Order: sequence, then C-alpha cells, then structure tokens
Amino acid sequence: MTIVADTARLRGRLLEYEPMAKYTSWRVGGPADCVFIPADIEDLALFLHSLPAGQPIYWIGLGSNLLVRDGGIRGTVIATSGALTGLRMTSETEVRAEAGVASAKVARFTVAHGLTGAQFLCGIPGTIGGALAMNAGAFGGETWDIVDNVETIDQHGQLRMRGPADYSIGYRRVGGPAGEWFVAAHLRLRKGDVADGKARIRSLLARRGQTQPVQMPNAGSIFKNPPGDYAARLIEACGLKGVCEGDACVSDVHANFIVNRGKATAVDIERLIERVREQVKRTHGVTLELEVCIVGEP
Ligand SMILES: Cc1cc2nc3c(=O)[nH]c(=O)nc-3n(C[C@H](O)[C@H](O)[C@H](O)COP(=O)(O)OP(=O)(O)OC[C@H]3O[C@@H](n4cnc5c(N)ncnc54)[C@H](O)[C@@H]3O)c2cc1C
Repeated sequence: MTIVADTARLRGRLLEYEPMAKYTSWRVGGPADCVFIPADIEDLALFLHSLPAGQPIYWIGLGSNLLVRDGGIRGTVIATSGALTGLRMTSETEVRAEAGVASAKVARFTVAHGLTGAQFLCGIPGTIGGALAMNAGAFGGETWDIVDNVETIDQHGQLRMRGPADYSIGYRRVGGPAGEWFVAAHLRLRKGDVADGKARIRSLLARRGQTQPVQMPNAGSIFKNPPGDYAARLIEACGLKGVCEGDACVSDVHANFIVNRGKATAVDIERLIERVREQVKRTHGVTLELEVCIVGEP
C-alpha cells in the first residue's frame, strides 16, 4: 500500500483500493492500490515529491486506450481527467492545454478561436496527455504534428519544458525520457475560418458515427495497422466479426474494435485479443502489434 509522507498539505483527492473499471472506457479493470486526482500541477508536484522512492506510478487520462487487468494495479495511479484542466491561448496561434483536457475540447476551442490544424482531435475520446503519450491521430492528422513544446513532471515532482526533439515519435508510438509524464502541451496552429473548422468537425464526427461501435464500451482500435494494410481488413477476412469470449466480442461494425456487451472481464478481452492475433497470423502470416495498452495484475 502507498505511504504518502505529507497528505495534510494535498488539495487533490487520494483514493485507496479504487476500481479501475470506473476509469476505463471498456468499463473493466480491478482496483489500484491508490489513485491520486490532483487539484492542479502544483498539488501534483507536491504529491509526487512526497511519494517514497521506488513507488510504482501509472498515469491515466480517460482510459480510452487501456485494458487494466482484473487484478488491478499495484502502486499509485495519477488520474488527470477532470484534474489538469487548464486551456488557454498563449499567443495568436498557440494554445496551452493541460494533460487532463479532453482532446475533443481542444479541437472545439481552437476552432472557436479561428485556428485550424487540431480538428482531427474532435473524435478521439481521450485527454491531451493520452494523445501525447500515444501520438493519437485520425484522418491524416497526428498529435505531435502540432506540438511546439510539452511540459513534463518527473517522479520527484520536478517540472521541465521539452521539445519534440527530446522524443522519438512514430505511428501511435512515442519514446522519451524515462520517469517523466506530460502535464501540458503547447500546440502551434494556423489561422483558419471558424465556419470551415466547425463544418470539418461535424463531418469528421459523422464519419465516426457510421464506422465505429459508439454505443458499446470499447477502447478504439485494438491493433495498429500493419504497413500498407488495415488491421480491420485482416481480422474481417478471417471471419472474426461477432466472435466472442464471454461478453467481449469483436465488433460487427468495425473488426478492429472489441466491445463489452455488458459483463466482460479483462480476461475475456485479453483472451479475445490473443485469439484474433493468432488467427490473423495463421491466415495472413501477419503479426499484429497492439495499439491498446495492457497493464496490471492478472
Ligand atoms: C471510440 C474510440 C475511438 C478512438 N479513436 C481513436 C483514433 O481515431 N485515433 C487514435 O489515435 N486513438 C483513438 N482511440 C484511442 C484513444 O482514445 C487514444 O489513444 C487517446 O489519445 C487516449 O487518451 P486517454 O486520455 O484515454 O489515455 P489513456 O487510455 O488513459 O492512457 C493511454 C496511455 O497513455 C498514457 N498516459 C495518459 N496520460 C498520460 C500523461 N499525462 N503523461 C504520460 N502518459 C500518459 C497512459 O499511461 C497509457 O499508457 C479511440 C478510442 C475509442 C474508445
């Protein structure tokens, strides 16, 4: 169990034995030893500074790309959604968004301020912190395309400003300094037309509604697209649409999505992921790489 030296000065919420199912879009996941929801960045720095050395720390935004196993997470989870929520213009074309701001909110905010370049974030149901960690992207746009700088924090509560050159960035992959997490992004955009921006958002959201199982809990794409192909095409060609393990099923709408029909466990989902991966390997000779992050104890 986590021991925090100086809880009296903290303003955020510290929750023990907290079910992670409440924090993930799949609505599955066992308890974390401890979840901290900071009041702001300063409070977060104080909390991290007070943690004993070696305490495992895991970060979560909106849990929309995350499978937490049924045994939960040993250590401390920092939950940013609804916590690090600052969002403001820093110049005519630059925006500072804290890690817990919903990506969709950033898309709408930038369009409302007559900026273009961040509309692709409108249908990605996570936080800016999660978008930075995953290099989230859609419809030709990727998060790091618009990053000027990021603010990070380490396990001692030390804050830093870093640039894209400090990271190795690829398709849904970001490598960077170990033991540091994102607390804010400075996004550089271009001037655009408000009405055009709003129309673009409407059209991107409509396309999503038609092609994704938006009614049932899911975590977006399970696998990355292999070079020159689509994971969904390979899975569908194996006849796997609608196949289930317990209440976890390959979506009928989008074959690279697994939906929770109601009572799925993390074990069901992980079994189904492995079943799909093995079948695709047998049929197409392609080893699919996971996009979803899997964490925690079985
Ligand atoms: C219906 C649906 C559609 C989706 N469509 C897309 C899409 O079009 N494109 C796309 O790229 N993704 C998509 N996703 C996946 C997901 O929304 C994105 O990856 C999103 O950016 C994850 O953000 P999050 O806040 O939910 O992160 P989480 O799921 O909470 O975390 C994901 C990873 O980021 C890390 N992380 C979170 N916050 C921080 C932080 N502040 N600092 C460091 N690490 C952090 C976590 O530790 C974890 O490893 C979709 C998901 C769903 C459910």
